[in-house]
Amino acid sequence: MSRVATKAKKDYYEILGVSRTCTEVELKAAYRKLAMEFHPDRNPAPEAEDRFKEASEAYGVLSDTDKRAAYDRFGHAGLNGGSGFAGGGFENIDLNDIFGDIFGDMFGSGTGGSRGRRSRAQRGNDIREDLSIGFQEAVFGIKKQIKLRRHETCTECSGSGSQPGKSATSCADCGGRGQVRFQQGFFSMARTCLKCGGTGQVITHPCNKCKGHGRVLRERSMEVEVPAGVEDGTRIRYAGQGEAGLNGGPGGDMYVVLHVQEHDFFEREGINLYCSMPISFPQAALGAEISVPTLYGDHKLKIPEGTQSGHRFRIKNKGVPVLQGSGRGDLYVDVQVNTPNKLNKHQRELLEQLSHELDVENIPLKSGLFRKVKDIFG
Ligand SMILES: [Zn+2]
Ligand SMILES: [Zn+2]
Repeated sequence: MSRVATKAKKDYYEILGVSRTCTEVELKAAYRKLAMEFHPDRNPAPEAEDRFKEASEAYGVLSDTDKRAAYDRFGHAGLNGGSGFAGGGFENIDLNDIFGDIFGDMFGSGTGGSRGRRSRAQRGNDIREDLSIGFQEAVFGIKKQIKLRRHETCTECSGSGSQPGKSATSCADCGGRGQVRFQQGFFSMARTCLKCGGTGQVITHPCNKCKGHGRVLRERSMEVEVPAGVEDGTRIRYAGQGEAGLNGGPGGDMYVVLHVQEHDFFEREGINLYCSMPISFPQAALGAEISVPTLYGDHKLKIPEGTQSGHRFRIKNKGVPVLQGSGRGDLYVDVQVNTPNKLNKHQRELLEQLSHELDVENIPLKSGLFRKVKDIFG
């Protein structure tokens, strides 16, 4: 998970005090200024650390082209995958990377400033795909084809970005170190070389297929195996199936987020199912055997004599299979005694006869009982 606090949701541009159209260089300068002021090693004020983290988070997002684009479009929601954006939130931010980048060996004195050229390898972004499935498909599992677009390692250059037979050359601006030193007050600072992006290398003969990026955008069709028992919102992770990494970095992950449609009459809570069945007053009074539809075929349910409206029956093992486990949940049937609202003459006569024979005391129920009944009716 994230090493950066994510609870304060202020605007990232505001936090850094830059305009929405600011360049990467302006962004970096703004962050450096805030970091110099609020870094906990330099500023003991209690709120400094929060300010520093806030600025780091904002910089982590805005300095990443993909994330910045998503943030510009969808705000914070775009970074949590809330609007269908393919991205892994802050998982990919490496604070050490930002430190190394901005401060050089200023804080990294323990490593003797050996940080130097930053590793070229970069992990690919996570991607998210949404998949809508039917109620029964979620219960029993299903295989589905999905289409996705992702950056894959260029096959022409194997991701190097250079034409076959050619290779990247050492960057002239930084002498291959990836960093350029400059003096700021008392400090000798190092910043990432803008020409080579800190890699220390420049591609002189870019690959024709990927134009030197090392990756190409591809559309893929993939089979997703939805296991039995998944729920609405279940995420299936496919490790390494996200965007390809850069310069030998590992691939990101792909997440398939499931959206399960509702059933006509079953409600689901975890592994258990619930439904309401109407029964007639004679069935409730005399007892009956009724046929209850389940996901596994019809089930004969015995209604005992004198069943009250709202009584809940449990049919074992007719619920949803346990995801990645064994066994199934149960089906709960709440019976509702149906009061007829259209009677013919004969029915009316019969009921009138019955009412002379039946005594019900029309006095309020004790509150405890009332509450119980209310609970059943939910
Ligand atoms: Zn350079
Ligand atoms: Zn290529």
